[in-house]
Amino acid sequence: MAGDPADGRLPLAGRADGLVGSVIDSSTSLLAAQQHDIVRFAMGAPAAEAIPTAQLRRIAAEVLDASSFTYGATEGEPALIDAIVAHRSTTPEPTRAERLVVTSGGMQGLDLAFKLFVDPGDLVVVESPTYTNGSATALSYGADLLEVPVDEDGMNVDALETLVGETGRTPKVIYTIPNFQNPSGTTLSLRRRTRLLELAHRWGAMIIDDDPYGALRFAGEHVRGFREISPDDPLVFSVRTFSKELAPGLRVGWVDADARLRPLLIAAKQAMDTCTNVPNQHLVERFVSQGGYDQHLAGLRQEYRTRKEAMDAAIARHLGGRVTTTDPDGGFFLWVTLQGEDARVPTPRLFEIALAEGVAFIPGPALSPSGRFQDAFRLCFASTSPERTEVGVERLARALDRARVE
Ligand code: PMP
Repeated sequence: MAGDPADGRLPLAGRADGLVGSVIDSSTSLLAAQQHDIVRFAMGAPAAEAIPTAQLRRIAAEVLDASSFTYGATEGEPALIDAIVAHRSTTPEPTRAERLVVTSGGMQGLDLAFKLFVDPGDLVVVESPTYTNGSATALSYGADLLEVPVDEDGMNVDALETLVGETGRTPKVIYTIPNFQNPSGTTLSLRRRTRLLELAHRWGAMIIDDDPYGALRFAGEHVRGFREISPDDPLVFSVRTFSKELAPGLRVGWVDADARLRPLLIAAKQAMDTCTNVPNQHLVERFVSQGGYDQHLAGLRQEYRTRKEAMDAAIARHLGGRVTTTDPDGGFFLWVTLQGEDARVPTPRLFEIALAEGVAFIPGPALSPSGRFQDAFRLCFASTSPERTEVGVERLARALDRARVE
């Protein structure tokens, strides 16, 4: 086909080979094409009811003026940076303005991080399973990925040491989602966080600390973050976003990193988009600083706990004994592993049958750069009401029955 990049006639850069795209998004875009009623456990999106639409509209009417519609500072609107610093000062991970750059969501933070630290051929450690949109970004800069298994305490840091030893190489970057990991829902234990920091220092590797869900803990005890354990550690690069706490369509996030990196981050961001969407920064700034942000977060935690419990109960009712699931203390996701005879059903095939039955999830292989986890899948419990979750899990059980007799 003329114009098809694959036909070799376009002068593509070598790095275009590394643009593998989002396997997660290809599952969800398949969904968009479906006409019938589908219970959507696939996308990691906040509940529509959890987005304070009415308040955001009111704020928009109040705060948007001519200054909102021109170019802003590349590093972010000063008022938003101040609001982030003020809010963070009430959390265990306070920060300072000179460490922050506002980004277009968490994804741009990840892109900046990998852009700054990854040369072609560098070894980048990722969790297995992982958020493959993040690992795909590392691949776009030519990373060699090393997948390290996750268990109920997050990335197995002992296995990490052994696996790295086997490569005979030194990692340049360690990409981790420490709280309520996407996709497994597990949380990295304090012992492992401490050990990971030690290993990062031994290797001179950056830890990319991607934590969109940290504020959404609805059970268990707070686990100290990397920046609490080792304040101002130059090897910790934190990627944050308002997508899960507020609204993903706003595309506002930030990175919190060693202040010496800020000129580089600004230069890199200038080359991408000059500045993050200015009106949306003004909306977020006002929402966060008007008071009541902590109450908003508390409401989310309560709602997501209810939804997670509804999913647990539905799984026990309809899939009891056929699957094991992780037991997240927060965030959006449960990781489900098929058991016994059911484990012979490849979850990409189950996904096709499930779509026809009217329910969607993300198959395990889409959540591992090398396509592991044929027998597992990710469910998002955050987007659907308890009643819809019940319907969806029942459909899932029917899909599994159908897949078994194929
Ligand atoms: N990291 C993780 C672990 C995520 O789950 C997500 C969103 N699914 C992102 C980064 C990207 O966040 P954003 O939508 O703000 O770009």
